[in-house]
Amino acid sequence: MSESKNKRVYGIDLGTTYSAIAFIDEFGKSQIITNSDNERITPSVVFFESEGNVIVGRIAKESAKTDPGRVVDFVKRQMSDKDWTFSVDDKTYKPEEISAHILRRLAGDANKTGEHQVEDVVITCPAYFGDLERQRTRDAGELAGLNVIEILDEPVAAAINYGLNGDAKGKNVIVYDLGGGTFDVTVVSIGNDPDKNEISIVCTEGNHQLGGKDWDDRIVQHYVAEFQSQSGSIADILADQESSYDLRFNAETDKKTLSNKDNIKRKVAYEGEKAVVELSRDKFDELTADLLEQTFALTDKVLEQAKTKGVAKIHAFLLVGGSTRMPQIKAKVTERYGNSLGITPTEFDVDEAVAKGAAKAGEIKVIITKVGEIADEIARSRGKDIDKLPPKEQEKIAEEAARRVAEDGGYTLPTITNAVKTSLKKVATKSYGIRALKNGQSVVRNLIIKQTPVPTEGIQTFGTAGANADEIDLVVYMNNESEADAQEEICEQLGNAIFNLDGNLPAKSPIEIKFQLDEQGSLTLVGLDKTHGKTITANFKSDGVMTDEEKKEAQIKQTELVVE
Ligand code: AMP
Repeated sequence: MSESKNKRVYGIDLGTTYSAIAFIDEFGKSQIITNSDNERITPSVVFFESEGNVIVGRIAKESAKTDPGRVVDFVKRQMSDKDWTFSVDDKTYKPEEISAHILRRLAGDANKTGEHQVEDVVITCPAYFGDLERQRTRDAGELAGLNVIEILDEPVAAAINYGLNGDAKGKNVIVYDLGGGTFDVTVVSIGNDPDKNEISIVCTEGNHQLGGKDWDDRIVQHYVAEFQSQSGSIADILADQESSYDLRFNAETDKKTLSNKDNIKRKVAYEGEKAVVELSRDKFDELTADLLEQTFALTDKVLEQAKTKGVAKIHAFLLVGGSTRMPQIKAKVTERYGNSLGITPTEFDVDEAVAKGAAKAGEIKVIITKVGEIADEIARSRGKDIDKLPPKEQEKIAEEAARRVAEDGGYTLPTITNAVKTSLKKVATKSYGIRALKNGQSVVRNLIIKQTPVPTEGIQTFGTAGANADEIDLVVYMNNESEADAQEEICEQLGNAIFNLDGNLPAKSPIEIKFQLDEQGSLTLVGLDKTHGKTITANFKSDGVMTDEEKKEAQIKQTELVVE
């Protein structure tokens, strides 16, 4: 493989339970890269077998039964917890360090095929991830030695994978994505213009503490209750780590079996007592009905929001994520939405849509940048500035640039022209507000409301509460409210900036606050003291992310074998 040719961007679906990596072949088609166990998806489980030996994937998952204290699973659910760590062999790991091992396995296995050199990656995360989790996901990639060109929302990735197929033109689509640990539901609108590939996210809702794991947990609870009732034992099986892992492992297996069979039997044994528990699909559906209902409440909400944005007709209902394989999902979605929307749900590349869409998004981004750079170069070599050329000439230069990028990158020309005409419009997945007093009470005044297309900005002029203050503490929050005001208790503090004031300002002096949110979800605050024309600018990043020093320390260090 030549260095520059075939240097691709890889899409990584870093899932709660399973992860996958994809790339775009020379014909513009997304392909999953199988791991060294020949599996298309890799369990997101990390086993610290011994100091210095870390195993990721199926073996790690199986090892949880025998070595539970050395195994970490569902780490993605810990990304929002600033205090969570995992300790083994006198070492302590943060969630991003554990995630880095998963990424390292995916990239390492791809590299081992000899056909790939994974460096530039797009990693996906739930739309509902806040700034801290996104930054930690990016850090995980860096710790694994990867160049993270974008952190992309999972539903956006799935939408890209769907939206770039020819049949999607002019359609409004709802993507219902139920994975192992998270749920996202998103309405996407795909433009009708044959000369463009326009994919617009209309609105998105979700819960990143709701996924297949919760369905597994219901089975576990059922097994424990049945074991206790049959054996008369009141022993707490779940307090024992090994038995608890065993039960969870079996529960997931049984859940999957119930996707194909009507009934299963499971032997549960503990401290010399045993029971044989039966579970029918109907009973399983009953045990989990409230979980399903939670997904529908969010689906209703997103459909309502879409209506208010002028998207009333939905043309396709796509089921994405491994958990949509449970027959209850398709059946109940049809029951609930079949008539009202006039469509039946369809499974859509259930396990792979996200990784494939991420690879497409990455490739498109890189191609658009390269074509732009080369077009500039061509114009400059002719002594001209591309923006000042007549449109016809600009078009010709763009065609030449596309040809060159195709040649240099080992792509077909249609792959390049298709990429160049693609545009993606995203929305803010959180509301952003600032602390202020309203009728003497502290509230968070939202300047950017979630579901607004990004990039966006929000401006409001406030008054100073007291006179002659030296400074104002500008405290910025994220929240899930769609109203102008949110209670501080339900908001997540993003950070604060101290605005030093020029003295002697009377009370009620005007202070203008502007929030700017870019497409990557990065927030900038600009404060303006209107009396003196003095400004403050601050960028907000969550605290709790690793410092550069910590990252350097935690970097996964790899070496090569040397023939001696
Ligand atoms: P994902 O995060 O999209 O990879 O989804 C993983 C989740 O899908 C896990 O909770 C799996 O247990 C679940 N899953 C995978 N296959 C099936 C199946 N056949 N039936 C039910 N759940 C499944």
